Amino acid sequence: MASKYDIIVVGSGPGGYVAAIRASQLGKKVAIVEKESLGGICLNWGCIPTKALIKSANVFEYISHAEDYGITVKDAKVDFTNMIKRSRDVANGMSKGVQFLMKKNKIDVIDGFGKLKSGKKVEVEHDGKKTEYSADSVIIATGGRAKELPNLPIDGKKVIEYRKGMSLEKQPKKMVVVGSGAIGVEFAYLYNAIGTEVTIVEYMDRIVPVEDEEVSKALAKTYKKAGINIMTSAEVTSVDTKGSGCKVTVKTKKGEEKLDCDIVLSAVGIATNLEGIGLEDVGVSTDKGKILVDDFYKTNVDGVYAIGDIVHGPALAHVASAEGIICVEKIAGENPEPLDYKNIPGCTYCSPEIASVGYTEKQAKEAGYDLKVGKFPFSASGKASAAGAKDGFVKLVFDAKYGELLGAHMIGANVTEMIAEIVAVRKLETTGHELIKTVHPHPTMSEAIMEAAAAAYDEVIHI
Ligand SMILES: Cc1cc2nc3c(=O)[nH]c(=O)nc-3n(C[C@H](O)[C@H](O)[C@H](O)COP(=O)(O)OP(=O)(O)OC[C@H]3O[C@@H](n4cnc5c(N)ncnc54)[C@H](O)[C@@H]3O)c2cc1C
Repeated sequence: MASKYDIIVVGSGPGGYVAAIRASQLGKKVAIVEKESLGGICLNWGCIPTKALIKSANVFEYISHAEDYGITVKDAKVDFTNMIKRSRDVANGMSKGVQFLMKKNKIDVIDGFGKLKSGKKVEVEHDGKKTEYSADSVIIATGGRAKELPNLPIDGKKVIEYRKGMSLEKQPKKMVVVGSGAIGVEFAYLYNAIGTEVTIVEYMDRIVPVEDEEVSKALAKTYKKAGINIMTSAEVTSVDTKGSGCKVTVKTKKGEEKLDCDIVLSAVGIATNLEGIGLEDVGVSTDKGKILVDDFYKTNVDGVYAIGDIVHGPALAHVASAEGIICVEKIAGENPEPLDYKNIPGCTYCSPEIASVGYTEKQAKEAGYDLKVGKFPFSASGKASAAGAKDGFVKLVFDAKYGELLGAHMIGANVTEMIAEIVAVRKLETTGHELIKTVHPHPTMSEAIMEAAAAAYDEVIHI
């Protein structure tokens, strides 16, 4: 291991490892410091293992409804232990993949806890031994962890966060999920689909509150139909974990309610890993738990950069990676454009899936736009009918004056794959009329995008 590098990256999540690879492609001598497993939360405890578990739930749901497709299957059972094992195997495989990529790109991997030191140095502590490395540029990409609410302390046994939620030894019979953002509703879907009785407690007046209101309504309708109990405008005030289960006290508009369950899953957001990494010693400015950076991820300290969940902006893997690439391209003297935070897709992999980008209808109205809104339900789509996936819709929000696509909001099967078209269309400043004239293959779910655009301009064919 060398002691001097062009770039040292601290943290190997999708921000850090992607930045390291891009830096290496640009001819830099790079090291990456990681205290746990390569790939960060995303590969090990976030995006990937949750999707592996959700796939198991999808398979079970399919089999349970096989008769709808003219297939008879008897005695399908969930093997929870093997479901968890599969998810862990997938995550471990992905982490090994990052290990391979580090080797391929000649990036030195330094095991241990990295701490920023003045003079662009990083001290790495491993097994009680401290070693110092120096670099021309240091990128902090230490990411985040589950946020903990004061009235909902996580004990790791009955009150758990996402890591434990995807590695439980036993399937809970009853679970309360606190918070209905992407992580909360994904876990709620997953456990409900495999037979756990699930209650969602959400502080706001609707689930998935960052999404368009119609999407929230549609998800709530499907979830209720699937047997998920939803409490909105509700707050967990305490959890009593004495005894064999948990007694959860929930404050609602109607008064206090008590819920019994085996497990409470806290999914109330993300806290950042900025403690103990030397930020104060070196004088790096922070604000509300995030490192402050400019458009190219430079902090106030010369030679120190920060990307990913540790900086302001959406806490998403693809955002972290995009920031990492822009950051190192700028360091290497290239001329990257700043990231367009208005065109970042957000996806939730519950069933039905949710995908959105840009303004919601309400936000666009509040911003003063005169709107044309088009909506196409999957119940009118041939592919959706054939697939038995008629729940959901595509909703597009256009600026009436110039035809600019201000936002897209989708709920239904495969929409997390479909949203990339919208992101490209918005990047290319495609108008509503151009979208209508863009021939989409038949039969596909993506035809609903073309039809929703047509609906906005009173040209829709299939409704
Ligand atoms: C359950 C769950 C599901 C998610 N699903 C999705 C999804 O479907 N799509 C999506 O886009 N996003 C998803 N996310 C969010 C996504 O995981 C994060 O946005 C992303 O991982 C952030 O990347 P990052 O590189 O900033 O940091 P992280 O992935 O958090 O990685 C940071 C790394 O730094 C290491 N580290 C921290 N401090 C130090 C130190 N001092 N020294 C050395 N190493 C250190 C950590 O061990 C970790 O490996 C999900 C998150 C969770 C929790």
